[in-house]
Amino acid sequence: MAMEEVLGRNGINVVLNLSELSRLINSYPPNNFDLQFNFSDLSKIQTALEDLYGPLGGRGVALRSGRASFKYGLREFGPLLGITDLAFRLLPLNEKLSTGLNFFADVFNRFSDQRVRIEETPDRFYWHIECCPVCWGRHADGPVCHLAVGILQEALFWVSGGKHFPVEETHCIAQGELTCTIEIVKKPVE
Ligand SMILES: [Zn+2]
Repeated sequence: MAMEEVLGRNGINVVLNLSELSRLINSYPPNNFDLQFNFSDLSKIQTALEDLYGPLGGRGVALRSGRASFKYGLREFGPLLGITDLAFRLLPLNEKLSTGLNFFADVFNRFSDQRVRIEETPDRFYWHIECCPVCWGRHADGPVCHLAVGILQEALFWVSGGKHFPVEETHCIAQGELTCTIEIVKKPVE
């Protein structure tokens, strides 16, 4: 749904065809917690975006899809998971970020096969993905998990009540690293 919002109905259909996932055209997976959507399919879609729009264009689409995914995810599952912006409003900024990141890591760890571990230093958070659906089975020269970066950008925007933070993938399993690591600078962009 998030990708359809970004690409339009025709665009998403072209991407699904190119990903050899034409069975999903007009038949998206249901919105539930069943583990029925393969990591390899998500990864194939990311590859198709780059094939179709070029590395830069594909990255842009993946980032925007990630941001839209967070919004859809929050709308669909936020109430069920018991998370609202009220919970964050009164916390100091660092607490907002820390509480939010830990909450979302927990959601991935509990409801998907993606494994996330958070590391914190005085000025940064590191979101380490140890089993990553976005680049599953891929080999690349640089980081390719732009979808995950987009999701985190929007999650941080939401928990902080409208601030933007530098978010960048610095290591990627597709490059032969052990984790896909996304670095988050705690100081918001002015
Ligand atoms: Zn990855």
